[in-house]
Amino acid sequence: MKQLLILISFLLITQTSFCWGFYGHRQINYYSVFLLPPEMLVFYKKHIAFINEHAVDPDKRRYLIAAEGPRHYIDIDRYGSYPYDSLPRQWKDAVEKYSNDTLQLHGIVPWWIQTMQQRLTKAFRDKDAARILKLSAEIGHYIADAHVPLHACNNHNGQLTGQKGIHAFWESRIPELLADKEWDFFIGKASYVKNIGQFSWARVLESAAAADSVLKIEKKLSADFPTDLKYAFEERNGVLIRQYSTAYTLAYNQLLTGMVERRMRQSIYAVASFWYTAWVNAGQPDLKNLEGYNFGVDDLKDLDSLSKEWKNGSLKNLDCD
Ligand SMILES: [Zn+2]
Repeated sequence: MKQLLILISFLLITQTSFCWGFYGHRQINYYSVFLLPPEMLVFYKKHIAFINEHAVDPDKRRYLIAAEGPRHYIDIDRYGSYPYDSLPRQWKDAVEKYSNDTLQLHGIVPWWIQTMQQRLTKAFRDKDAARILKLSAEIGHYIADAHVPLHACNNHNGQLTGQKGIHAFWESRIPELLADKEWDFFIGKASYVKNIGQFSWARVLESAAAADSVLKIEKKLSADFPTDLKYAFEERNGVLIRQYSTAYTLAYNQLLTGMVERRMRQSIYAVASFWYTAWVNAGQPDLKNLEGYNFGVDDLKDLDSLSKEWKNGSLKNLDCD
């Protein structure tokens, strides 16, 4: 009986994961800091622990606030076929054509990134250190999500093609196995992004175009690979769980020809570039003497509820799919 219970708990753990995994989001925010110019680096480096830790707040919030979910994805294939020209890129035009309810239903990530960018620019203008940090950490999350192919596709967890679990396989299992050991995240410098909207849509369209390969390649691999070697009890964060085996993960990564690493690198470049652009558009405020975490009441409440729920464990067995 005891063994059975242990097995059941292992199986439950295999279901648990979040977008890009907590690991991926934290890595992306962390490495983005090192692409910044010296005037920004001095501030971001000092607060890198915050930027790293709060990279995952938006995922925690998904389970507390209904409006949060749609900010992480867009099921763009609900709007016809690539390049989805019938979907207006401007929010106002899109609402007029499809209604706010429909847009929320299918996800709003490319628009939400732009809203966050405006807020971040304002925080820089106000020289509000706490807001700069919170918004930087969170916009990093949404930008990274927009780079994940399955965040731009209705079949986001392979639920329509008998591939349930592929979401976390692509964005958590592969990076957790390979990022530290083999991937390179020193990418160069952040760039100024002239048109935030255009840039966001371009990344989402790349994601949408790649979604098909993500699914098809795994489907074929699954058919060719010995079934008994597909899963294994292996360690994750110090716990033994049943998950896609190392051999299967490496085979999938190879067939994807570096796609996950590429998307992670592009995420890092984009996150740093958006931070940098917000700072430039705010008139390059001097960040050297910005001090303190003087959060406003709403931000404090938000941070507090996220960490409380997290500690209570009520968010732990939820899946990103
Ligand atoms: Zn997310």
